[in-house]
Amino acid sequence: MPQRPFQSSQPSPEFTEVTPLGHDAQSLADDLRRHFNWTLGRDRHCRSVYYTYTALAYTVRDRLMARWRDTRQAYEEADCRRAYYLSLEFLMGRTLNNALLNLGLDQPMQTALQQLGLQLEELLDAEHDAGLGNGGLGRLAACFLDSCATLQLPVMGYGIRYEYGMFRQRLRKGYQVEEPDHWLRDGNPWELERPEHTIRVQFGGRCEHTHDDHGRHRVRWIDTHDVLAVPYDTPIPGYRNGTVNTLRLWKAAATDEFKLDEFHAGAYPESVAAKNAAENITMVLYPNDASENGKELRLRQQYFLASATLQDILRRWLARPHRKLSNFAEKNCFQLNDTHPTIAVAELMRLLMDEHDMQWDEAWAIVTQSMAYTNHTLLPEALERWPVRLFANLLPRHLEIIYEINGRFLADIAQRWPDDAARLQRMSLIEDGPDPQIRMAYLALVACHKVNGVAALHSRLIQQHLFADFYALWPEKFTNKTNGVTQRRWLAACNPKLTTLIGQHIGEDFITQLDRLRDLRGLADDPAFQRQWHEIKFANKQALAARVASECGVQFDPQALFDIQVKRIHEYKRQLLNVLHIIHRYDRLLRGDDQGLVNRCILIGGKAAPGYVRAKEIIKLINNVAAHINGDTRIGERLRVVFFPDFRVTAMELICPAADLSEQISTAGKEASGTGNMKFMLNGALTIGTLDGANIEMREQVGEENFFTFGLTAEEVLKRRKHYDPNTIIAEDDDLKRVMGMLESGDFNAQEPGIFDPIIHAIRDPHDPWMTAADFRSYIDTQMRVDQCYQDQAQWTRMSILNTAASGRFSSDRTISDYNQEIWKLEPIKA
Ligand SMILES: *Cc1c(COP(=O)(O)O)cnc(C)c1O
Repeated sequence: MPQRPFQSSQPSPEFTEVTPLGHDAQSLADDLRRHFNWTLGRDRHCRSVYYTYTALAYTVRDRLMARWRDTRQAYEEADCRRAYYLSLEFLMGRTLNNALLNLGLDQPMQTALQQLGLQLEELLDAEHDAGLGNGGLGRLAACFLDSCATLQLPVMGYGIRYEYGMFRQRLRKGYQVEEPDHWLRDGNPWELERPEHTIRVQFGGRCEHTHDDHGRHRVRWIDTHDVLAVPYDTPIPGYRNGTVNTLRLWKAAATDEFKLDEFHAGAYPESVAAKNAAENITMVLYPNDASENGKELRLRQQYFLASATLQDILRRWLARPHRKLSNFAEKNCFQLNDTHPTIAVAELMRLLMDEHDMQWDEAWAIVTQSMAYTNHTLLPEALERWPVRLFANLLPRHLEIIYEINGRFLADIAQRWPDDAARLQRMSLIEDGPDPQIRMAYLALVACHKVNGVAALHSRLIQQHLFADFYALWPEKFTNKTNGVTQRRWLAACNPKLTTLIGQHIGEDFITQLDRLRDLRGLADDPAFQRQWHEIKFANKQALAARVASECGVQFDPQALFDIQVKRIHEYKRQLLNVLHIIHRYDRLLRGDDQGLVNRCILIGGKAAPGYVRAKEIIKLINNVAAHINGDTRIGERLRVVFFPDFRVTAMELICPAADLSEQISTAGKEASGTGNMKFMLNGALTIGTLDGANIEMREQVGEENFFTFGLTAEEVLKRRKHYDPNTIIAEDDDLKRVMGMLESGDFNAQEPGIFDPIIHAIRDPHDPWMTAADFRSYIDTQMRVDQCYQDQAQWTRMSILNTAASGRFSSDRTISDYNQEIWKLEPIKA
């Protein structure tokens, strides 16, 4: 550890004693001025709104600090059991508005800004998104942090401080173009660097096996290339409860001696290059949603997070004199967000045995008692595997430990199922072959005492298919925790008008007890309430229409039905099925067969992984179809289509309050849960969806008469696969035949011949895993029911109210309280 100046002095009590800051408009206005003029040193010539935003952020951050310190101290004094949420992704979005809401500063700040002649909306808009995640999995982690703080649970998030988050998506000629997202360029007022808690992380080297003075086997991991991990803390305020939890993100930094080595050789530029290699570890988020790609840098990121986090926690644990490692598992537990941080299993074994002198059995007991694993996907291509040879080079000690875990595990299996070589091969942590692989999900299954899926169907399919062998062995480990979203961000902050209306009628308790929305059911038939509800939806649609006009140059009429599908672009999510419906609608309008069709504005948005060629072709197809239809003067207002660029958290905050219809149309059995579906339901959208993921539970809550269900079930999908014949389906369905005909005759790519051939072939392929043609008829028929329903606006609004009223179960507060009751077992601590 290099010498650091801040370890040499301790501040006096006089120095750390502070008077609380005022929460009134006048104090806020004074601090805004002070930060703008003195902290930032700007004056009246400063034209950039970003400095005003930063001054505002500092003003709010100041008011988090005392609560943050008090929460830390309350946890220390209570000496309480704690949980740590380990995730390679935290898709936080913006912080300012959420902090204003949770601190209860929104009203006084409005007044303060009015005094100063400033517009809150404009300032909020200056903040960059913290896009440190791909999609649902990363956003779930962010919602969980908000719920943990609101429930006053001692939970800390641990992740990576990527310099570059999720790429920015631009469109060029209808194709996705990725641009780097340098979100930290203008500074990040929400983070606090804590270099005094820097950790050293080792890579490479070799293992030396020796015996100590007592004749015990010892392992030393030596000749390693080390990297420093520097923590940056972000405050996570609970909702008006005094609690402020912590998200700790690690940044990689070169060690000083790393540079010195090169310096002796007289190679200064090379030394700077070496520094770069170390710091590259936290340079960029991998933009793959639900697929592994086996890159060494990604494994480095995973180990970097796991090692820095575990060392940090062990050090804090052992800093108090009465604590011993033997009771570590009583007071600490880890939740692994997917397999990404699973190397933590081997790292905790290494730290306990090699650094803290523990024997295997005792260390293994701590690991198994403290770790739990959440699975997020049923797609086999997403199950992470790492080549053994990569481990041998990068993490040789961890490879030894994984072999030992596997040896002991397979010995148990052989005892329970004698003479079952096939089972041993199926369950082994090492997949045999010319390039043997480590199965990270199996490592998590063996080491964790709890394993959960993220919706009822998903958890059942895990047990019956994906991990059936492990379920047979340890049924008691398996459990379900249906996902949720935080209503603070996804209703109170993003839909203030609806929040006010609901509050006026049923009170504001729903902001912390979402079940209370049930009380809206009694208002669903009230014409006056329906009118107000409808007017708010209309205003939200106007706001979205304005953005669509400025971003996409397309006019959306707020009277029309707003039909929305926003999420990562992936074949299993079937944006393609949506496109087939759009083309079918267009075909009907052209043929004058428009009976029963309402005016629709269809919006699709989402990013494709940069290496996912088919997903990028689908984006191009959506854009071509949109341009063709919007440019056809015969269609006019009847149908408008846009691809909304750069879909991200901040875009979702504008989009979900404005949706009439939410498209959740994945092939059944493929979407683990979905959380976008829940944000839409909360904001009064109706759902058209398959019986997949959490859709099933949403439909159960709201009643099937208020939900547009279509398509094959997960079981039917499995059965149909064996004799799936899309070409016959197409030939026998006149509508689908015409749609395919329009695609095949190049109606949408007259200037670009052949570009959609791969997509057309995929739909016609009997091995199409997503079975798009199989669900076409049922989807189209159900869409017609949607149109019919929308024609009766009172009826539609009634169903909209009932959807919001039934969304209480899908609060992440409920999800977190489920995790806590069954896995973490933490006591809430008042700060
Ligand atoms: C909620 C959310 C998601 C997840 O959407 P799904 O429809 O569940 O895949 C992805 N990205 C962003 C920005 C979100 O807010």
